[in-house]
Amino acid sequence: MTRITMTSGTLVVPDNPTIPFIEGDGIGADIWENSRAVFDAAVSYTYGSTRHVEWKQVLAGKKAHAQCGTSLPSETIEEIRRSLIAIKGPLETPVGEGIRSLNVALRQELDLYACVRPVRYFAGIESPLKHPENTDITIFRENTEDIYAGIEWNAGTSEVRKVIDFLQHNMNVTKIRFPQTSSIGIKPISREGSERLIRSAIEYALAHKLRHVTLVHKGNIQKFTEGGFRRWGYELAQREYANEIADGRLEINDIIADNFLQQILLNPQRFDVVALTNLNGDYASDALAAQVGGIGISPGANINYASGHAIFEATHGTAPDIAGQNKANPSSLLLSGCMMFEYIGWSKVADVIREALQKTFAAGLFTADLAPSARTALSTSDFAQAVIDQI
Ligand code: NAD
Repeated sequence: MTRITMTSGTLVVPDNPTIPFIEGDGIGADIWENSRAVFDAAVSYTYGSTRHVEWKQVLAGKKAHAQCGTSLPSETIEEIRRSLIAIKGPLETPVGEGIRSLNVALRQELDLYACVRPVRYFAGIESPLKHPENTDITIFRENTEDIYAGIEWNAGTSEVRKVIDFLQHNMNVTKIRFPQTSSIGIKPISREGSERLIRSAIEYALAHKLRHVTLVHKGNIQKFTEGGFRRWGYELAQREYANEIADGRLEINDIIADNFLQQILLNPQRFDVVALTNLNGDYASDALAAQVGGIGISPGANINYASGHAIFEATHGTAPDIAGQNKANPSSLLLSGCMMFEYIGWSKVADVIREALQKTFAAGLFTADLAPSARTALSTSDFAQAVIDQI
């Protein structure tokens, strides 16, 4: 077994890396097997017999529960920790097992602080915009802080009473409008957390020769949390990227989150890479994906650029209504695979898959979720074969 490793901040990728995969629940099996066939065809087309991926199944979700009695076995986490990267299908959120979400658990275990979502348009896909092709934006959403830290207290409990008493008596807070019936939530945003996310966004922009990095925030209202994210971002850029800014390779700007949601519809070409706090990033990810018609085919990755750990994943759920029927669209997983190949430096493989997918859509070939009513929908396996035929 030859694993990908990290030496002095750089990934070291053997010609036959072992990459763990989590098949996923529901449609996971349908989309994984077919995506894997596309991945292998693209690697073989690009590198002949000199390179190939050794896929290694690791268990999570229902399959893990059936075989190991737990939905997220420690061996799975350890295997991904050792292998640095993994790719996964969707996982059903287990009910009554003490884990809120397997995806969240994986992100927390490996401190995958950057949620990366490239959003672009593929000709042939229906979009609500007149010019969806103007949208080509990569989102960097902070993944570990903000209100997602889950620090909140329910109205009427003795805990919230203590918090409100503390705020009123020790912090001179007078602005809680209805103190008797308020729930309270805490929003931690740190300099470290903001800096590592924004640094990753800048590095990505420079590596992809993209000029604009936009800090999206609500600092006009939340001065120290959202405002801190903005200020720390600018300070970081001045401190660490002064040369790139001076020679015009990099331009940092910022925009208030509500205006951002207008501008992505009106002037999406203004943005290349955007960095956002967790909640704003959550809203913006879905809004952006929807405007290119790609909500079901958007790829995603959760990455810790410092340790090298990264999980590439289909962003949709397990689609129980069509599971096991060979109907699901594998494109989200395929495009997440492209992100993975790019991440390990096999960018040509990513280009080959994206081009083949582009040609497949342009030829009017779609799975049922995207097929306009007049056209016949392809099964998952026929669609994957159509993509392979374009390679
Ligand atoms: P869902 O994304 O599974 O399904 C919503 C709708 O979209 C369904 O009609 C489904 O058929 C369709 N759909 C989704 N992916 C598709 C694909 N690839 N091809 C064709 N159609 C597709 O959302 P849900 O029903 O809210 O969630 C079902 C389960 O998935 C839940 O257990 C949820 O927790 C889990 N989930 C997991 C992830 C993840 O692992 N990243 C993300 C979201 C939801």
